Amino acid sequence: MEIVDQRYVIQGVDLLDLTKEYGTPVYVYDAAVIARQVGLMKEAFKGQSLRIKYAAKALTNVSILKLMRSLGVGVDVVSKQELQLALAAGYQPSEIQFTPNCVDFQEIRWAAEQQVQVTLDNIPMLEEFGKAYGADKPCCIRFNPHIMAGGHLKISTGHIDSKFGISILQLPEILEVVKRYNITVNGLHIHTGSDILDTEVFLKGAGILLGVAKNFPSLEYIDFGSGFKVSYQEGDPATDIFDLGKQLKVVFGDFCKEYGRELELWFEPGKFLVSEAGMLLVNANVVKTTPATVFVGVDSGMNHLLRPMMYDSHHEMINISNPNGHTRVYAVVGYICETDTLGWNVTLAEVTAGNIIAIQNAGAYGFSMASNYNSRLRPAEVLVLNGEAHLIRRREKLDDLLSTQIEIEL
Ligand SMILES: *Cc1c(COP(=O)(O)O)cnc(C)c1O
Repeated sequence: MEIVDQRYVIQGVDLLDLTKEYGTPVYVYDAAVIARQVGLMKEAFKGQSLRIKYAAKALTNVSILKLMRSLGVGVDVVSKQELQLALAAGYQPSEIQFTPNCVDFQEIRWAAEQQVQVTLDNIPMLEEFGKAYGADKPCCIRFNPHIMAGGHLKISTGHIDSKFGISILQLPEILEVVKRYNITVNGLHIHTGSDILDTEVFLKGAGILLGVAKNFPSLEYIDFGSGFKVSYQEGDPATDIFDLGKQLKVVFGDFCKEYGRELELWFEPGKFLVSEAGMLLVNANVVKTTPATVFVGVDSGMNHLLRPMMYDSHHEMINISNPNGHTRVYAVVGYICETDTLGWNVTLAEVTAGNIIAIQNAGAYGFSMASNYNSRLRPAEVLVLNGEAHLIRRREKLDDLLSTQIEIEL
């Protein structure tokens, strides 16, 4: 987003005009930012056989998936439905990885029958997979290296109490099952959480995974998951992917030499590719002054953007209706009957009712976590591509809410 002639625009598309055309709240995504982020990753890991598997759960719209595919990015899915959406978006099964957690074997079997790469994250399912396919179908194993990543327990998945992955301490058991059923393990995986602060922690996890890799002679790739930290506000530490690329290149290169073969290097970023690309445009319904605080109440809330309440995430905001206004400090809150604070101490150009507030960094885990709580309708989504706005999801209607409900006779 930039300011041109006192108007906020994306690729020349005026954001206030968008809200007039599509209403509010509306999610707006900038395809150029997604392309830039993909380019950064490719650049940072240049010279390695890098495969990017976009974590579809971050933003699952089929048009976004299609865009990803056009950028040469594969996809990582976590449910049967995400897998079906990826297929609907034109992905070939060979470009899809299925990384479920605690699903039943039927779902895993269904994915495997689609010829999709499956990642297993518990021993009972590894056994089921072995019984069903033996050496016929390869699979990838997700390890938990037990490193603490990031500060927020909910987004940290590598600690000892985490439900994710198979503990590195259970390696002997894994090897026993692999041997018993003659399972072909073609990939190893870690994903230690969505908030890895620095290269050092990342490399620690990578080192642990590579340390066990020699036990698996049929590997084709190592999947280092994601956890790239995105800067949500000025001064936030973000993962320096160029530094990571440089250091991992050495570690991975040494490993491949020792292993005796070049393996593919996989990543499955979500946030890194789409967070900055997205914003949620909301209308200021009311400016409410109390003895302690000035609230801006907007036509959205935890039903459309849950991250501030679930993860204490910070989202920069801009009053795009008042580019030259004097700034004031506000609490920006939602219209849901819960405490759904979108931001405390938010400095905004003076807000009057009817202004449009842009909530930034809302591309990842924004719409995809949205709900119908309070029977509110979910917003529209617009993608700005090559200087043109495309509606990629219409706003919900009351009929959408009623369509799954069954009214009884009384
Ligand atoms: C959610 C998830 C990701 C993406 O995490 P980001 O922090 O959004 O990059 C990657 N891999 C797996 C298995 C996930 O569950």
